[in-house]
Amino acid sequence: MPLGTILLGIALLIIVVVVIALPLLDRKTPAVQPPSRREALEQERRTIISAIRELDFDYRTGKIDEEDYKRLRESRVARGAQILRELAELDEAERDVDAEIEAQVARFRTVQATDGRARAKSVICSSCGHAAGAGDKFCPQCGHPLDPQKAQAGRLPARSE
Ligand SMILES: [Zn+2]
Repeated sequence: MPLGTILLGIALLIIVVVVIALPLLDRKTPAVQPPSRREALEQERRTIISAIRELDFDYRTGKIDEEDYKRLRESRVARGAQILRELAELDEAERDVDAEIEAQVARFRTVQATDGRARAKSVICSSCGHAAGAGDKFCPQCGHPLDPQKAQAGRLPARSE
């Protein structure tokens, strides 16, 4: 067998091994996120409901006696109610988070608006380009006397927003 053919075979073998091994290596990092608290509760709610149905069916078909039926059903219904309460609490918590985010957005907007007004009123120093306050007579950066009319027209063009 010529050396070229052997090398080509080895190269092909390496490619095949890599193609087969890569998806296997990928599996180490789980692509699926663990279920959230809500998903776990929803899942358990479905399980409980089908368990109660099954229990009803077993009782109707005479597979379990009344005493067991009542005891089991009671505990399952209680667990179902518990799950519904926890889901309701999650809803409540999410609403709180939504409200908090909205409040933060509103605060951020207020800060931006205030900042924008302050910038509009500020005077740009004609000597160093520092943005001084509207009432400043001298540049706080370099001490250059500020002339509001001249300075404003100076360096930085007003931002269009
Ligand atoms: Zn200055």
